[in-house]
Amino acid sequence: MIEQQFDEQLAWQSEKLLFNAFGASLKRKFGGRIQRVSIDAGFTCPNVDGAVTRGGCNFCDNRSFSPSRRVRLKQVSEQLANGIASVTERYSKVSGFIAYFQPATNTYAPVDQLEEVFELALSIDPRVVGLAVGTRPDCAPDSVLELLERLAEKSSVSLEYGMQTIHQPGLDWMNRAHDHASMVNAIDRSRGRGFECCGHVILGIPGETHAMMMETAAEVGRLGFDSIKLHNLYAVQGTPLGEEVLRGEIELMGKEDYVQTVVDFLERIPPETIVERVSGEAPPNYLIEPKWCLEKSAIRLAIEREFVRRGTRQGDHHNPPKVAPSERPRPADETPESIRSQIDRRSRLPVLKMQE
Ligand code: SF4
Repeated sequence: MIEQQFDEQLAWQSEKLLFNAFGASLKRKFGGRIQRVSIDAGFTCPNVDGAVTRGGCNFCDNRSFSPSRRVRLKQVSEQLANGIASVTERYSKVSGFIAYFQPATNTYAPVDQLEEVFELALSIDPRVVGLAVGTRPDCAPDSVLELLERLAEKSSVSLEYGMQTIHQPGLDWMNRAHDHASMVNAIDRSRGRGFECCGHVILGIPGETHAMMMETAAEVGRLGFDSIKLHNLYAVQGTPLGEEVLRGEIELMGKEDYVQTVVDFLERIPPETIVERVSGEAPPNYLIEPKWCLEKSAIRLAIEREFVRRGTRQGDHHNPPKVAPSERPRPADETPESIRSQIDRRSRLPVLKMQE
């Protein structure tokens, strides 16, 4: 059974791919094209409301989910219907959809409310085959992981952690207000529960050397993420980072440097790790810099060409950790008390109120 699972994880190699690409892995799993549809359930974030700090990460436009939000919140059913309609307009053959709880911290509510909203998203349209839930490493108490474990018994579930980097100066620079130890604690409690654990990584954080980024790559294998999302640091309007970039205070990574770094990174992660994304994405009228990250297909092509030029593929320079991720013990839950008590005080999620 384990051997069969491993063969499936490495199927991309027999398909002559250069890395374990997400789209192909979804096709293998579901037998057709699967697209994500973003859902805004009206969550906030402990990095914005003061539970850990205020202001949010320097790259995050948290006005989009603050009480003075600019975009009117819609019912989950309406969001799913609109998202599905726009995806099917763009792609002719879509077999199913993943409800992607994307903006803000999507585990930042009492577990009974999380259950209600996740079940709602799974039940509205039979074409919804699963959930993806974006969160911070310090906001995944065991009660939430147990809920996702239950949901994963009947549906595909992915929990997406914003790891970003393993280095504290970079985490501080971004104002993440958590350390890497929280990430280690969260993944060590999440692994092996039947849902997928995805790690989000940012390349090109000011002050991070190539060697430091490669240390983050090694950590992906050490911690045993099932999948990763890679993107370059980019600046959008309405953020502290955007202001600094406009003032010329920050130099962002160039395209060629990024392509080389991504290939170096992918060579160092395990071959079975699914690569969900290889570049950043922002609406053109919202993106400040670098403009090259709008050329999504060109970047992917450049990454594939670089693999071909080197004669390598994902995992070729991966050194397996001394202790396999599956052997790492499950630690005690270290979710900060300030986050737990804020969750307990939280009023009903806006989209659940709308359903009443
Ligand atoms: S933790 Fe996530 S949602 Fe919160 S401010 Fe940072 S990027 Fe935004």
